[in-house]
Amino acid sequence: MSNSNITVLKFGGTSVKSIGRIQHVGEIIQGRCKSGKVLVVVSAMGDTTDYLIKLAKQASDSPDAREMDQLLAVGEQISITLLTMSLHRMGIKARSLTAAQVGIFTENVHNKARIVDVKSDSLMNALKTNDVLVVAGFQGITENGDVTTLGRGGSDTTAVALAAAVNAICCDIYTDVDGIYTADPNVITGASLLNQISHEEVLEMSRMGAQVIHPRAVELARQYKVPLRVRNTFKPDHGGTLIDGGDNMEIYRTVSGVAIDRDQASVAILNVPDKPGIAGTIMQTLAAQNIVIDMIMQAFHPTMGKNSITFTVHQSDLDQTIAALNQIKSELGASEVLSDPDIAKVSLIGAGLAGQPGVAAKVFNTLGKNSINIKMIATSEMKLTCVVSQADTEKAAQLIHDAFELKAVVQNERAYTDIRESEKIYQAIHELEALTRKYIDGVIETRDAAAAHASF
Ligand code: ASP
Ligand code: MG
Repeated sequence: MSNSNITVLKFGGTSVKSIGRIQHVGEIIQGRCKSGKVLVVVSAMGDTTDYLIKLAKQASDSPDAREMDQLLAVGEQISITLLTMSLHRMGIKARSLTAAQVGIFTENVHNKARIVDVKSDSLMNALKTNDVLVVAGFQGITENGDVTTLGRGGSDTTAVALAAAVNAICCDIYTDVDGIYTADPNVITGASLLNQISHEEVLEMSRMGAQVIHPRAVELARQYKVPLRVRNTFKPDHGGTLIDGGDNMEIYRTVSGVAIDRDQASVAILNVPDKPGIAGTIMQTLAAQNIVIDMIMQAFHPTMGKNSITFTVHQSDLDQTIAALNQIKSELGASEVLSDPDIAKVSLIGAGLAGQPGVAAKVFNTLGKNSINIKMIATSEMKLTCVVSQADTEKAAQLIHDAFELKAVVQNERAYTDIRESEKIYQAIHELEALTRKYIDGVIETRDAAAAHASF
C-alpha cells in the first residue's frame, strides 16, 4: 500500500515527439500536480532512438555495446530537459534528472541491463524543493559509473521501478492508444478495449508482441504491487486500462485477447545425440549471451537415435544465436543449424484457458479450415501459441479473434457481472467507493474516479 502522495507518469516517444506535444504533456502534468508530487519519466522524442541506432551503424558495422548505450542515453536526456523547460514556463517547480543523478543502478550488462537498485533518497530530497521531477527513462548506471540502457521500450520499466522505489500511489503509462485491447485495433476488426486486465494476461500479451507496455514493467509492477494504468496522452480524460493484481480471478474472462508477434525467428539444431546434457549446453550458451528463447521443442528421430531441438528467438537476436550455436556445433555433434526468419507467433491469451478442453481444437480447426499451416505449437497456463508464416499472420489472428467472439467480450462480461449478486461483488463495490472518496479527497483528480466508477 502506498504511503506517499507521489504519482508517477510516463510518457512515450510519440507523446513527446515535438515541442507542441511536450507542451501538451506539460498540461497533463500541471493537472496532476494539483494533488501531489509528480515523478515523470519520458522516452526519447519520436524516433530519436531509431535515428541514433542508424547513425551508430553508419559509424561502425558492429558498434561497441558500451558506446552504444552512451549514445542512446542521449535521446532521453533531450526530452527530459525540454519538458522541464516547458514546465518552468508554466510556472511549475521542476527539475530534470538523468539515471546517474537519481541513482538508477543496473547490472553491468550493456543494451539490456536490468535494474538492481533505485536510490529513492535522491528523489525524495529533490522533491522537497520541486513539485515535479522529470527522469530520463530507459537508462541506468553501473557501479563503475558506466551508462547502460534497459532494452528497447525500457522507459516503462524505469517508471515502474521509480514508482516502487518511492511507494507511489500509482503509475500511469501514457501512450498513443486508449489502453489494452483484445487485439491490435489497427490490425484486427472488432478489437475491443479492456477496462481491466490481470498482470499475468498482459504479460503474456506483451511477451507475445502486443507492444502497448513493456513486459518487464508489468512484471515489476506485479512484484512490487504498483497500481498500473495504460492511458492515452491525447485523451487525458479517458480512464484507460487498469492492470490489477488479479485478486478477483473469478470475475475474469476465459479469453482476453489475441496477440501477434512478427519479430520472431525459429532456429533448429539438427541431429544432436540423444543423451543427457545437450539441451543444457545449448541453453546455457545462449543464456550467457543474454539471449531470450521461447517455444523450445525437442523431437526424437527413432530411426537415427538423434534429436532435433527447435526454438524461437527475437529476430534481432537471430544472427548472434546462429553464431553462438555454430561455435558449439561440433562439440554438440549436431549436423546442422537451420533458421527460419519467415515466421510469426499468433497467440490466444486468457487467464481461464487452463483446463478448457475445447480451446486448442477450436484454434487448430479454425486455422485448418482456412488452409493456414501451423509450423509450431506451444501451450502454457494462459496462452496457446501457433507459429505461422508471416503472410498468414493477420488472417490467423482475425480468425481466432472472431472464433472466440472477442469483439463482445467486454459487453458479455458486464452482463455477467451485473447479474452476480455475490458478496465478492459487493465487497468490490465498497472498495471502489472507498477509493472514490480517497480520490475526491484530492489524491487523484476526481475525473479519474468517475472514469473508474463508469468502467466498473
Ligand atoms: N527510447 C527507447 C526506445 O525507443 C526507450 C523507450 O522508448 O522506452 O526503445
Ligand atoms: Mg521509444
